[in-house]
Amino acid sequence: MSIEQLVRPNIRRLQPYTCARNEYTGDARAWLDANENSRICVYNRYPDPLSLAVKERIGKLRGVSAGQIFLGVGSDECIDMVYRVFCTPGTDNAVAIDPTYGMYRVCADINDVEYRAVDLGEGYELDAEALLAATDAHTKVIWICSPNNPTGNAFDPDTIVEVARRFNGITVVDEAYIDFSPLPSTVSRLAECPRLIVMQTLSKAWAGAALRLGIAFASAEIVDIFNKVKYPYNINVLTQREALRLLDAEDHVRAVAAELSDARDRMTAELVMLDTVEHVYQSAANFLLVKVADPDGLYAWLRDRGIIVRNRNRVNMCSGCLRITVGSESENKLLLQSLKEYDTLRN
Ligand SMILES: *Cc1c(COP(=O)(O)O)cnc(C)c1O
Repeated sequence: MSIEQLVRPNIRRLQPYTCARNEYTGDARAWLDANENSRICVYNRYPDPLSLAVKERIGKLRGVSAGQIFLGVGSDECIDMVYRVFCTPGTDNAVAIDPTYGMYRVCADINDVEYRAVDLGEGYELDAEALLAATDAHTKVIWICSPNNPTGNAFDPDTIVEVARRFNGITVVDEAYIDFSPLPSTVSRLAECPRLIVMQTLSKAWAGAALRLGIAFASAEIVDIFNKVKYPYNINVLTQREALRLLDAEDHVRAVAAELSDARDRMTAELVMLDTVEHVYQSAANFLLVKVADPDGLYAWLRDRGIIVRNRNRVNMCSGCLRITVGSESENKLLLQSLKEYDTLRN
């Protein structure tokens, strides 16, 4: 199916708002088009509506052209955008692996789009056949998160591409944790898969959660439609500026991501020695899903000592589990010390 056919009819017909800074881009001697205050010069000018400098930088980093990049206010905006562009409320549906990141369901609910959760395999593996079997004529989107939150494992890019090629709608791969993963990004597979969208973010490895910058890589056709639907100046000037600064620190970020991956594996080795720990799942991200004897009790015990982890005990297929972020060296040390103390007290 063509992208045009997949897009909601009202979005296909949409006449986008044309903001002043879309109509004229070059240099000017007098900017008198946007009713800005020219007499106080701090944040008086509207930012670049398309954040082109940031896109050029990200494009160079990931090997795609700036025209294949959409930027949102966090991945959250990118996720919501997929529903708003492709899913007709009350009619269309989305299929997703389960368990996974909660925002796919929340945004589906907000947009009145039916959400179909398909269990991962026993070992959290991706079941392409099960995902495809859950689709019907009204399925517009399949969500795959890799490395997956909260399970931590990454899926074989070939299996993801197989889903994207066989499914006649939009396949989204959320790669928020890709910089911690030994498996390659699916960004390099976009040319093979015209209906694939790959999401990344500055919030995790890039240490820019406060900036709120989410990235969607897709065909130029999809990016153009997203640009029509977004708020005209969605990425503010401070975020654009600071994002460029973070992206300049690429080497440092890569080194720290590698260090965090090592720390994760060292932490795994320490955790499995504890009596209270029943299993530590293999992770390709900067967190560990840990199955423990008394998750609610341990969660509360850690919380009372000022150590906050994520209780996933009530999440589908995660019964008994806490999700623990790999933190600073002192945070990790504090966590392990406290867990050892807990172990001794319980015995
Ligand atoms: C943390 C996370 C994000 C990041 O969302 P932002 O809105 O970009 O901060 C996206 N997807 C997953 C799966 C995450 O865990």
